[in-house]
Amino acid sequence: MNKQSSATSAEHVTQKKRQSWHFTPDLPLRQAPYFESPLSIRDSLLYLLNVWRPFNLRFLLLTLAVVSWVWFTPSLERAQEFRLDWILEIGLRNLIIVLVVAGGLHLLLYTFKRQGDDEHYDSRPLVKNSSRFHFGDQVWDNMFWTLISAVPIGTLWESLMLWSYANGYVTMITFADSPVWFVGLLLIIPIWSGFHFYWYHRLGHVEPLYTWFHSWHHKNVNTGPWSGHAMHPVEHVFLYSDLIVYLVVASHPIHVIFNSMLHTVGGPTSHCGYHNVRLTKFFSIEIGDFMHQLHHRFCDCNYGSYETPWDKVFNSFHDGTEAGNEHIKARRKQLVANRSR
Ligand SMILES: [Zn+2]
Ligand SMILES: [Zn+2]
Repeated sequence: MNKQSSATSAEHVTQKKRQSWHFTPDLPLRQAPYFESPLSIRDSLLYLLNVWRPFNLRFLLLTLAVVSWVWFTPSLERAQEFRLDWILEIGLRNLIIVLVVAGGLHLLLYTFKRQGDDEHYDSRPLVKNSSRFHFGDQVWDNMFWTLISAVPIGTLWESLMLWSYANGYVTMITFADSPVWFVGLLLIIPIWSGFHFYWYHRLGHVEPLYTWFHSWHHKNVNTGPWSGHAMHPVEHVFLYSDLIVYLVVASHPIHVIFNSMLHTVGGPTSHCGYHNVRLTKFFSIEIGDFMHQLHHRFCDCNYGSYETPWDKVFNSFHDGTEAGNEHIKARRKQLVANRSR
């Protein structure tokens, strides 16, 4: 074998290695059946029953929202005046949740490596000693932006909504008054949040917004639990801005807190890098998000969530397979060619 062909073959192996995953869920990835054509009511109901099943992540987030509202949210009487004391109480609650979820997952999966690389999408270590990250370290950088920016900004959005309920600026319902709408809205919230996420995120990939803001999040090619909120502060403002819908949609503070938890907890869980996480000997939970992991590696695909139709509509859906790689590469070439015309 001559020198050149051996170099080409080494390059090929490296390329293959870069493209391959240590673990993937069942492929091809499929999005929620709500937006499949023709619509199957049966499949959609089965999907909903599955994602809401007891002790699944979504069920636990709702439980956390109810517990937060009942025991760890200031009363509406106190929230009538926009004051720092009760806002800080919400901030402290959110800070503790983030420390437990992101910090706990990081210790479990990356410090103590309790499940080794079992169900680890990309087994390369998180980055150290790199000028790409603030403080030269991916984890320190990620923690800094989570604690210094994501928690306060998420808290401010939630406080703004609570203050609006307290002063009657928005229509507040209760489960006793409107049980059907109360439950129906809970089912809609993840879809709404995914819809909002797709559009603000897609906008973040347009220049110069990408360079100014969203590129901060994409320093994380491989992700860990703290990467979920490793963003420019301006992006945190937009991330939580889906809460604004409750200014016009009749709701209860539990809806706002649940919606907010989709970000506060969903950020660390969806970026944790592992598919199923074994929390105890007898209990593991599916919290990873391979669709978004693909977005971090390839950057120009999978802008939305499993519950948004837009990646399919705009041809940017990567289903995780080799054919998906080829599809995204071909699409990228086409976009570059269109731009240079
Ligand atoms: Zn991300
Ligand atoms: Zn992105």
